[in-house]
Amino acid sequence: MTTVATGLQGLMMDQPLLLSALLEHAARWHGNAPLVSRLPDASLGRGDWSHCARRAARLAGALQAVGVQPGERVATLAWNSTRHLELYFAIPGMGAVLHTVNPRLFPEQLRHILQHAGDRVVFLDPQLLGLAARLAPSLAGVRRWVVLCDAAELALAAAGLAAVEHPAEAAGQGDGVAALQGLQDYESFLAGHPETFAWPRLDEQAAASLCYTSGTTGLPKGVLYSQRSIVLHAMAISQPDAFCLSARDTVLPVVPMFHVNAWGLPHAAAMHGAALVLPGARLDADSLFALMDGEGVTVAAGVPTVWLAVLEAMRRVGRAPRALQRLVIGGAACPPMLADALGAEFGIQVLHAWGMTETSPVATVARARHATPADVAARVHESQGRPLFGVDLEVVDGDGRALAHDGASQGELLVRGAWVASAYFGETAQPGALRESWFATGDVAQLDAEGLVRITDRSKDVIKSGGEWISSIELENAALLHADVQEAAAIGLAHPRWGERPVLLVVARPGSAPDRADILACMATRMARWWLPDDVIFVSSLPHTATGKLSKLTLREQYRDYRFPEPGKS
Ligand code: AMP
Repeated sequence: MTTVATGLQGLMMDQPLLLSALLEHAARWHGNAPLVSRLPDASLGRGDWSHCARRAARLAGALQAVGVQPGERVATLAWNSTRHLELYFAIPGMGAVLHTVNPRLFPEQLRHILQHAGDRVVFLDPQLLGLAARLAPSLAGVRRWVVLCDAAELALAAAGLAAVEHPAEAAGQGDGVAALQGLQDYESFLAGHPETFAWPRLDEQAAASLCYTSGTTGLPKGVLYSQRSIVLHAMAISQPDAFCLSARDTVLPVVPMFHVNAWGLPHAAAMHGAALVLPGARLDADSLFALMDGEGVTVAAGVPTVWLAVLEAMRRVGRAPRALQRLVIGGAACPPMLADALGAEFGIQVLHAWGMTETSPVATVARARHATPADVAARVHESQGRPLFGVDLEVVDGDGRALAHDGASQGELLVRGAWVASAYFGETAQPGALRESWFATGDVAQLDAEGLVRITDRSKDVIKSGGEWISSIELENAALLHADVQEAAAIGLAHPRWGERPVLLVVARPGSAPDRADILACMATRMARWWLPDDVIFVSSLPHTATGKLSKLTLREQYRDYRFPEPGKS
């Protein structure tokens, strides 16, 4: 759309929407609102917004002192903690770009992402020191590794170098900490820097943070959020018909801070002076229950797998965490059974949200309006909701024609808006997914007359296990490395615990009889253990589409009633 000049401008102050303003607001007007953080030793660290702002100022000073430039990407490999929160505000606040990296990715992807982003400084949790030591030799560009702990804790972690979070990294620690250039603990890094910082007046369109998609087809792509898009998104998700956030809330983002800005919750919490509880790496149901109960959490957010487990914990205890009112569930479709049980058994309201890395991520939230018919209102959580103001949706057929909003026609979901990606970072070619000012999501959806969107499938065949992506193509490519595998297809099938788990279908080379364990061992050399298929099924042929591609839709249909082998019996 072209901008039309009217010749008369409004006479309002030109105040850019900046992350530093969020932090200053929280510190100035809600300075005592608590910030609680689960530390690696399981104890709880306590601070408040005023404390966070002082430490973020010291951090910004320290970053400047080591020569971090405006626009430069600074990486974090870390779980949810108040130190990570300081990085969330200090890095974009001083004009650099916070690049959050998912430590669960396969090392090859991590290397690619860190190289592609051009990170020169990486902040990491002490538990991830082993992973960093293995990555470092191939990351010559990184000249400073700062560990989010104090000197004594770093000494301990360096000596141990055992508790590595990445399952595939448990064995062998490469060159050890010697490979980590400029290794330093965070507290020493901050030492001596003042508790105030003159946050620069940046252009609100300046890049603020960077998060890579999980590379379902090809390599991961970087989504570069702006100062303005983050502030607008935080404002939108806080609205009464979205997550209804306020200074009376204590917010627990279970969604990791390395995934799409933890759905914008740290920024929204600062905007309202809400209290924040950050769970560290302990995301099992009992730990989360205890944390929510102890800290009086009113609203928490995460993928369905987490809440399925927490629901079981609530049933064991016979009650919900004492102050819990609502749960934001997204990242994958929320099973209606989960929302029903949380509401009926514990009086907890589920807010089902849809979005993607490219949409910051929240684009729609499911809430009934007063005119919604009662029967629809009761089932509204079965949809992904309506777009928030600032986002628009359309569903189109294969030729790009808009489909009727009749609750039946289904097609590809398109999205556009003030916090939707317009291009990927560092990609010269425009993303194929961008279609005439719309972003084509790759999700298949229906819209109904109530304005509710339902995601019915996704055109990509990515496998979502416990809220994490597993690329079916990578699984297939790895299986094909086995000499006796002629053709392979990986599909995600419903799993009671993980949402989905991968199953591999294999056509063996004529005359050969490959062994299941052999194929898995071959694949294990290429990927993290949790990516490996839970089952390998040998078939004589695989179904294909008219254009010769594997038809995974057909396969998923065929194996709809499949049951996973019980552990130890496969
Ligand atoms: P990501 O970019 O990793 O955040 O993943 C985005 C994708 O997750 C979307 O394109 C959807 O396929 C899926 N997704 C996210 N939220 C939902 C939801 N509420 N229901 C169904 N699928 C979802």
